[in-house]
Amino acid sequence: MLIQNGLVMDPGSGRQGKLDIRIRDGKIAAIGANLPVQAAEKVISAANCIVSPGFVDIHVHFRDPGFTHKEDLASGSRAAAAGGFTSAVCLANTKPAIHSPKLVEEFYARAASKAIINLYTVGSVTRDLAGQELTDFAALKEAGVVGYSDDGNPVEDSALMRQAMEKAGALGLPAITHCGQLSLVGDTIINEGKVAEGLGIRGMPTIAEDIHVARDILLAKQTGQHVHIQHVSSATSIAMIRAAKAQGIKVTAEATPHHFSLTDEALLTQGANAKMNPPLRTRAHVAAVCQGLADGTLDVIATDHAPHTPEEKATGLIEAPCGIIGLETALGLTWTELVLPGILTPLQALAKLTSIPAAIMGLDKGTLAVGADADITIFDPSAQWEVQPEKFFSKSRNTPFGGRQLTGKVVATIVGGNLVFEKGKIVAACKD
Ligand SMILES: [Zn+2]
Repeated sequence: MLIQNGLVMDPGSGRQGKLDIRIRDGKIAAIGANLPVQAAEKVISAANCIVSPGFVDIHVHFRDPGFTHKEDLASGSRAAAAGGFTSAVCLANTKPAIHSPKLVEEFYARAASKAIINLYTVGSVTRDLAGQELTDFAALKEAGVVGYSDDGNPVEDSALMRQAMEKAGALGLPAITHCGQLSLVGDTIINEGKVAEGLGIRGMPTIAEDIHVARDILLAKQTGQHVHIQHVSSATSIAMIRAAKAQGIKVTAEATPHHFSLTDEALLTQGANAKMNPPLRTRAHVAAVCQGLADGTLDVIATDHAPHTPEEKATGLIEAPCGIIGLETALGLTWTELVLPGILTPLQALAKLTSIPAAIMGLDKGTLAVGADADITIFDPSAQWEVQPEKFFSKSRNTPFGGRQLTGKVVATIVGGNLVFEKGKIVAACKD
C-alpha cells in the first residue's frame, strides 16, 4: 500500500512534510517525497489530508464482559476505528472486574477474535474494585496488563495506594488513578456551584478531586514511582500537577475532550448526557484545562469513552450513571476547540493523541518510524461535519455533542497495514 500526497505529521520525531508512506507486511517500509508506485501496490490518496500515527486512547470502557448491551470489544473497536484510534486501553471496571490473570487472558482472546484495532487492558488495583485487597500485580503483568487502576472506584486507603504505586513501579507499569474523594461527593456527581443550585441538587466540589490529586502526588513523590492521573477537571489539581512536575515527581495526566470543551451549563440542555465523573466544571476550570494542555501539564487527550443505554440515562440527573461516549468525536473536538483557536499546534495536539499516550503506557505505538507497525490515521483537518449520534458505530448514543458542528474528520484508519475504516464505513472484515 502507498499513501500519497498527504501532509505527514509524526509528533514523536517532529517530522512533518508532504511525504508518501509505503506499507509492506503490516509495517511502515518507507517514508519519503514522491515515492514511485510499485507493481500491484494499492494507492491511497491523502491529498488535502494529514497523515498521522494511529491515535492511541489510554482510557476507554468497552463493558466487556458484563455489560455488553452497552458496548463490547467488537462495537467499541469499530467506534474507535471510526474516530481514528488504532489502539485503545480498556479499564478494568467490567463484570467481573479484570482482576485475575485468567480474566486478562480471556480479554486478549476476545480482543483477538472480535476487535478490529489493537486493544489492551489494565488490571484492577484491588480485587472486585472493592478497595480492600491488592490483586497479584506480577501475575497480571505476566498475563498482559499495561497498568493498574480501579478507575471510578478510587482507592481510598492511602496505605494500599502507596503499596500499589510501589508494586506497579517495581514492575515498570503505571499506577493509574481516578481522583475523587467519595466522602465529598454530594447527592450526585455534578459540579457544586450555580448550575447545581439552580437544579436544586447538592453537587460535588472540586476539592473532592483536588484532595485525591494532592495525595497521589505525595505518594508518587514518597515512593519515587509513576502515577498517571486520569481526566483532570479542576484548576487547583492542574496547578498541583504543574508544581509536581517542576519538582521532578513522576506524574502524568490526561484531559478529556468534554472537559476542555463544555461547562456544567451543558447539564441544562443535555441533562444526564452531560453527567460524568469528574463532572463538567465552570468556564474558569475549562480555561485551566486548556492552559494545562498548552503548557504540557496535561500530557494526554483521552476520551473516557463510557457507553450507557438511553434507558439508564433517562433515569434523571441524580440516578443516571456517569459517563459519555467519546471516540467518534475526539478528533473533531480537539481540532475545533484546541487547534483552530491556536491553543495547541497540530503537532502538539497529535502528540497528545499518539506518541505521548503510547509512551505513558509503554506501548510500541504512536510513531511513523520506518519498521514500526503500520497503524496510521488519515484525516481532513478542514472538513466540517455535524455530529449525528444515530450514525455512531458505538452501541450507545450518550453524547452531549449531538448536532454540534465540528471541523476535522477522520477519512481512513489503517491498523497493522490493513485498511479498517474508510470514508465513513468500516471496511475491515467483520469479526463479530
Ligand atoms: Zn473512566
